[in-house]
Amino acid sequence: MNSIIGIDIGGTNFRIGFADDSGNVRDFRKQPVKSILKSDDVLRDVADFIESYAGGREFDAVAAGFPATLNRERTKILQAPNLSYMENLPVVEYLEGRLNVPVFAEHDVTFALYYDMRKYDVPADGITCGIYFGTGIGNAIMIDGVPLLGRNGVAGELGHIPVYGSDEPCGCGLVGCMENVAGGKYLARIRRELWPESDIAEIFTEHGNDSAVREFVAMIAACTVTEINILDPDYVIIGGGVVNMKGFPRETLHREIIAGTRKPYPAGNLRVIYADDEPEKCVAGAGYYACDRIMASS
Ligand SMILES: [Zn+2]
Repeated sequence: MNSIIGIDIGGTNFRIGFADDSGNVRDFRKQPVKSILKSDDVLRDVADFIESYAGGREFDAVAAGFPATLNRERTKILQAPNLSYMENLPVVEYLEGRLNVPVFAEHDVTFALYYDMRKYDVPADGITCGIYFGTGIGNAIMIDGVPLLGRNGVAGELGHIPVYGSDEPCGCGLVGCMENVAGGKYLARIRRELWPESDIAEIFTEHGNDSAVREFVAMIAACTVTEINILDPDYVIIGGGVVNMKGFPRETLHREIIAGTRKPYPAGNLRVIYADDEPEKCVAGAGYYACDRIMASS
């Protein structure tokens, strides 16, 4: 069995563990990104951290997930909306040179979707959409078990489709992107503006009936419906921290998704899975992903 070091670099936390092709994760660690990426040489900091984490233990490959767009060859990070220090990084070349094992770089949500498809027994055949509502909106699309990349490697950017009439600047450089009205950062904004004394974790329990929160849930539905009506997917997996918050109105969301989806189909035959939020998800998914890639190349 291959031993993979899986890495999930988010905006706030850096997660790492030993993963395999069975979804197991050993010695999982979660640390603030700031405690690891300390210098202006991000790749060196990442490589140093992997070496010290491994501590001489053997591993066959590294699979690293980033909240960023990558080139089609999956060798370079192109752009990260919320992490400017990660732009234009030749991550695979550098890490392979330092670590002397194959290194796979991917969009973090692809790892999440790999994990969830196995956890929820979603067959590889057909189209599966993963939509993850966190700080932003992560989106991955699998077609017959292969991630949809697009000509430039940047397909599946549902969070950055335009919302007409919205003038919110986005971390990607555009204005009015979907994730600014249907992602967690919008929720944080309405809390700050409307209920500054409330804890963000209680927003749905304390203010779930307020029109601002209801509109936010409607935007999550509209975002989901957009992808469903384009792709007519076999399965839709909805996850992420926002939809797993305490008191999140999942039934309302589901009703609004069905209401907005084209009739009679896809609405009449829609399979939606609501995925739990698990801290080790992307690390475990990194293990599945790397083992698939190693098998495909052997
Ligand atoms: Zn954007």
